[in-house]
Amino acid sequence: MAQGILEEVLMNTALVEDLAEVAKDEALLQGVVMRTRETPNSSELVTYAPLTLFPTSVPKAVFLQALAVQTHYNTLVDRISQDSDFLKEALASTIEVDDFTARLFRIYQQILKEGRSQSIVLGLNRSDYMLDQRDDGTSSLKQIEINTIAASFGGLSSRTPDVHRHVLKVAGRFEESQRILDNNPAAGLAQGIAKAWELYGSERAVVVFLVEENQQNIFDHRYVEKELWKRNIRSIRRRFDDVSRTGSLDQDKRLFIDGLEVAVVYFRNGYMPQNYTTEKSWDVRLMMERSQAVKCPDISTHLAGTKKVQQVLARPGVLEKFFPDQPQAVELIRATFAGLYTLDMGPEGDKTVAMALAEPDRFVLKPQREGGGNNIYGSEICQVLEAVKDSTERTAYILMDKIHPAPVHNYLLRRDAPLKMSTCLSELGVFGAYVRRGEDMVMNECVGHLLRTKSSEHSDGGVAAGVAVLDNPLLI
Ligand code: ADP
Ligand code: MG
Ligand code: MG
Repeated sequence: MAQGILEEVLMNTALVEDLAEVAKDEALLQGVVMRTRETPNSSELVTYAPLTLFPTSVPKAVFLQALAVQTHYNTLVDRISQDSDFLKEALASTIEVDDFTARLFRIYQQILKEGRSQSIVLGLNRSDYMLDQRDDGTSSLKQIEINTIAASFGGLSSRTPDVHRHVLKVAGRFEESQRILDNNPAAGLAQGIAKAWELYGSERAVVVFLVEENQQNIFDHRYVEKELWKRNIRSIRRRFDDVSRTGSLDQDKRLFIDGLEVAVVYFRNGYMPQNYTTEKSWDVRLMMERSQAVKCPDISTHLAGTKKVQQVLARPGVLEKFFPDQPQAVELIRATFAGLYTLDMGPEGDKTVAMALAEPDRFVLKPQREGGGNNIYGSEICQVLEAVKDSTERTAYILMDKIHPAPVHNYLLRRDAPLKMSTCLSELGVFGAYVRRGEDMVMNECVGHLLRTKSSEHSDGGVAAGVAVLDNPLLI
């Protein structure tokens, strides 16, 4: 469970206590900050964003593999979003029983019927992985999921490298300090937004960040906003409610909010049922989708990021359909797939049920939800499956092999927790950004990474859910 080279420092309790204070101050100095849970909608009180005391070792080859596959994932998501036959078939069973996905799908169908009013597409996503431990001690990169809407921490993760660099220096580890990688997803995400804004072609038009009720993580957005302001692109922040009151389409379906024409809508909200507090929120989503504004993501790209689509992609022959002339892309993507199993009605789904009931600890049961804390593990898989296994309700879920990363020791710094050594698991995210106009891919890039680490006691949950914390890879 060693953190390799850092083990000695980890065990020095007095040093660790000092370093923890150094790390918190440095996080504040660098702007690795969050509003507090108590006052999420005011910056009067801010605190450091939860982070690890030390970076986590990540094998270089696996890290580079994750970066290398990202532009192919961008292409894949984009191609799926343009294939209505595929999306309809892949999600047919899911939308029978999952109200939220069905609701999104209804918007999608309306757009298919009306025709799209904007040919510019902006995709900002984050593909997440864990490193599955092999018996021979090596590890293999396995995708957990891809987030095609509201993928967060591109801002704060641009600032965490300097925090860990400083901590390592104070710990006397100058050599390791130099090896912390630069990272700037915020710049790359903003570059995508700026490109889409430019193609939209109106100097006066603004970028709208469609934001949540609870704005605890506002600084993460601010980094992206600032990158836009640097280019003299105006951005505004609005909630569904605001847009419901002051938004409208003109006769050409141009979107206006508070009298400002909107070039790009960047959704940092709208990914879970609770985000749609009233019917009006759904009306706003539909209005934006029908508009000429570039949507990030548009409804089809949102649907391309569902867990059901992820499972269907793992079926034999499906990737080949999306990359008919690129066997290498197929190979790179497929190498990152974990086992994924359908729960559709029929013999194949029955087999999945039997397999999960026999060895629940080998799997994770996933509903079509985002935001952490929704998956089902261990004996609870049996409880849930026993209840739904003979009805179509089971098709709301997919089953996935559980990934087992090597646990390592670290300290998780968070405001409300005492300082103690934890056994931790990490998840590596890679940010992708692309812009397409009609048939032309005008930008397709990998724009940075995110390492998140959590105590191994928790099987689920991200940073926003209060489980994982920000981290940096230390390549070995
Ligand atoms: P969400 O969209 O809610 O983030 P995820 O698929 O990322 O859903 O799952 C949430 C968390 O559950 C992940 O961050 C990871 O910690 C854990 N998890 C998900 N899938 C697996 C898996 N196959 N093996 C091990 N842990 C998993
Ligand atoms: Mg997700
Ligand atoms: Mg996730």
